[in-house]
Amino acid sequence: MEGEFTPRADALRHKFRGEVLEPGDPVFEQMRRVYNANIDRHPALIARCRDVADVIAAVDFARETGRAAAIRGGGHNVGGLGTVDDEVLIDLSNLRGIRVEPKKRRVRVEGGCTIGELDHATCAFGLAVPAGIISTTGVGGLTLGGGFGHLSRQYGLTCDSLCSADIVTADGKLRYVDKDHHPDLLWAIKGGGGNYGVVTSFEFAAHPAKSIIGGPMFWSLDHTEELFAAYDQFIRRAPTQVSAFISFHIVPPMPPFPKDHHLETMCAIVWCYNGSEAEAKEVMEPLTSRIPPTFSMVGPIAYTELQSMFDGLMPHGLHHYWKSVFLRDLPAEAIEVHKEFGPRVANIHTTMHMYPLNGAVHRVGPKETAFNYRDVQYAANIVGIAETAEGLEPIKQWVREYFEALEPYSVGTGYTNFLFGDEDDKMIRAAFGDNYDRLVAIKTEYDPDNLFRINHNIRPAKARA
Ligand SMILES: Cc1cc2nc3c(=O)[nH]c(=O)nc-3n(C[C@H](O)[C@H](O)[C@H](O)COP(=O)(O)OP(=O)(O)OC[C@H]3O[C@@H](n4cnc5c(N)ncnc54)[C@H](O)[C@@H]3O)c2cc1C
Repeated sequence: MEGEFTPRADALRHKFRGEVLEPGDPVFEQMRRVYNANIDRHPALIARCRDVADVIAAVDFARETGRAAAIRGGGHNVGGLGTVDDEVLIDLSNLRGIRVEPKKRRVRVEGGCTIGELDHATCAFGLAVPAGIISTTGVGGLTLGGGFGHLSRQYGLTCDSLCSADIVTADGKLRYVDKDHHPDLLWAIKGGGGNYGVVTSFEFAAHPAKSIIGGPMFWSLDHTEELFAAYDQFIRRAPTQVSAFISFHIVPPMPPFPKDHHLETMCAIVWCYNGSEAEAKEVMEPLTSRIPPTFSMVGPIAYTELQSMFDGLMPHGLHHYWKSVFLRDLPAEAIEVHKEFGPRVANIHTTMHMYPLNGAVHRVGPKETAFNYRDVQYAANIVGIAETAEGLEPIKQWVREYFEALEPYSVGTGYTNFLFGDEDDKMIRAAFGDNYDRLVAIKTEYDPDNLFRINHNIRPAKARA
């Protein structure tokens, strides 16, 4: 079967090392899918790149055929930004090279790597880049939206460790960006998402993470109110070596979870301490002695193991609907909202995670990177997941109601990487905060025709700069 581009696609194939996939090809069918099974989009063509030359050819192809260029890194974006209907999809899943320079504490990662691959490579040298908590997530989308995880209170956002990048811009040029070369572009990709081009490689500073104490602790729901209040007091002042996010879960009915609590809905705190076990105990003690957990699974653990601990609960192919808010404070009224909605998580996959965004994240000024929200305490993420599309419908309702109840205590927006895409323009614009105008100016310079618009889009100004 011929795709609408077939003659031109053949010309692209001549320049390509990777695959140029068109509808009708069984590989196309497989490759058009993303992590969230609820997203069902049909690109006009998928350019599955093998190297930078392929990326340049694919960007030129999209521009010359008058199509938008969607970019896929890890394909994890739950709103489906890693795929598209009727436009060109540039897939980076074959760009997976990683090179660690242990002495310099630097790591260069190609644009299609997952954070599991990044962690695997750096951990061999006792190093880590702060990134997300599910190992199958793409480094690309995560970094470009900011990126946070277990080590962020100590080492900042993922984008704070970004030193340089190779990026193919809308004109098909490969640009090396660092503090001396296109510093405006480097600034913009630290939170501005996939708006500025295809990042073919990222260079990060890596940080010591040799001995990790981590894992979840669970409390019965009777403690919800006092636990959230105690957690809030604790995490604002705790040393930055400790990270802890608070959440609601139905305990999975399988080892290593204790049988007595299988399928019980509980509150949890997932800990990560970068240091010795004795120090970890001492640091956690003010909270754990005040409200002792029902059971604890915290102990010495390889960083890579902690980073993939929840992968089994979030495999590819489930149906997702998420909402997110940033919170500057956690007043008693917001805790009441958690107490009302958190215990209604519908299944072992569905959850609410509230991540602390303080410590080293606050050491960077709001204008120093495109990621603007350097004064919020928490990113609360309401994660609705079901095994079927039908099963997701009632869960969507719960996500929306939880979100609407929490919104009055938020800054009016949430973390771009957790937004679903059905938010209004106001909320998307607000997600870039006071940096929006500068982001528009840089977008206008590098992508005046908005070739890269399948993202939380920063529209270029009408007139070319
Ligand atoms: C299960 C799960 C857990 C998560 N946990 C965390 C977490 O702990 N911390 C956190 O910060 N986030 C987390 N996220 C959110 C995650 O950061 C976003 O979903 C992010 O968009 C994923 O990046 P990706 O490359 O996999 O996405 P994709 O769907 O491939 O791409 C998403 C967007 O990023 C852009 N993009 C991706 N790669 C590139 C590239 N190389 N060059 C240019 N643009 C690119 C694309 O334009 C697209 O708009 C999680 C997501 C999931 C599904």
